[in-house]
Amino acid sequence: MKRGYFFYLVLLLFIFIISFFMPFISSISTLKISAKNSNIKSLEAFIEKNSFIDKDSVVKIDDNYYYYRNDDSIIDVSKMSFVKPVDVIKNMDLFKELLFKELRIKYPLFVVEQIINNDFDSFIVSNDRIDISYLTTEGNKYDVTLVCRDYKNLVSFGCVDDIQGDPNSVGIDSSKKSVALTFDDGPCVYTNDVIDLLLDFNMKATFFELGSLMERYPEIVKRVLDSGFEVGSHGYNHKAFTKLKVGGTLKDISRTNDIYREISGRDLKLVRPPYGSINASIRDSVDVTFVKWSVDSLDWKVRDERYVENVMSVAKDGDIILLHDIHKTTLEHLRDLLTRLYNENFQVVTVSELASIKGIPLESRKVYFKFV
Ligand code: ZN
Repeated sequence: MKRGYFFYLVLLLFIFIISFFMPFISSISTLKISAKNSNIKSLEAFIEKNSFIDKDSVVKIDDNYYYYRNDDSIIDVSKMSFVKPVDVIKNMDLFKELLFKELRIKYPLFVVEQIINNDFDSFIVSNDRIDISYLTTEGNKYDVTLVCRDYKNLVSFGCVDDIQGDPNSVGIDSSKKSVALTFDDGPCVYTNDVIDLLLDFNMKATFFELGSLMERYPEIVKRVLDSGFEVGSHGYNHKAFTKLKVGGTLKDISRTNDIYREISGRDLKLVRPPYGSINASIRDSVDVTFVKWSVDSLDWKVRDERYVENVMSVAKDGDIILLHDIHKTTLEHLRDLLTRLYNENFQVVTVSELASIKGIPLESRKVYFKFV
């Protein structure tokens, strides 16, 4: 019984407290509504003043700012005026830095450098994101999305921080035509520059390296891996497997693998036979995946810019392209090759990535030339 009374007493007290505070609670919400109303009132007054404004194209950003879709401008209701995107950016330097970073995720450096200092073609502000696009004189359109968590301190208006992940992130696209670039005979003094160029273009490659040069340049081997690229074996010192016979090849491959494991803690799964020379008994005796090529750039032979055309005249979806990072001339014209591959919409990946894009499992004791 006593417990029952106690319950009713608590209930009464609760009702009393609620009814006491009710007027305050409702006055708070009335205040909120009136603030909103006054905001809407000033917006309505603004629209009335500027009779050309199409009401349906006005989108709320926050209590003070509205985005006007029809001409990509922003209405600042506290100032009762239209403002340009640049007027709502508080820190243009940091804003440009953010733009640069996000554009680089999607586009190669040469594209980003071309567009970053141009005026935006459009600047669309929602309550949680800004979509910006650039239109080049050639008619190419590049767009990028900034999310609230990254720009909220750089602009005058408020935003909602609710977008997870990076909307500009790009993964491997299985629907795009793809090729694997392969660089043989290194690592060497040009390899770092080759890596830098590939990174500038957001492209990948597989480096088939010699054990003897891995010993000499372990830091470069590490950098190839740290840059997200792939390393394969090209034997210890470029001796033809067919001359080494099965026994010699087994020793050569395992010696190279030991050096690589010392540097990276991993094993070499892919092997490119020096000179591409391999026979059935070697293929069947070594537990690795052999990778040859379908496009020979002949960079080792022509030693000039002609190798670029040798690749571009035949390259197609699924090809494995042979290049050498030990020739200065290959490095000198590599930018041209990568630019042309980019302009022709090739996705440039590692050998393993190309196999995976094409849904072809890489098996050991097999020789691959291309993935189609
Ligand atoms: Zn070679």
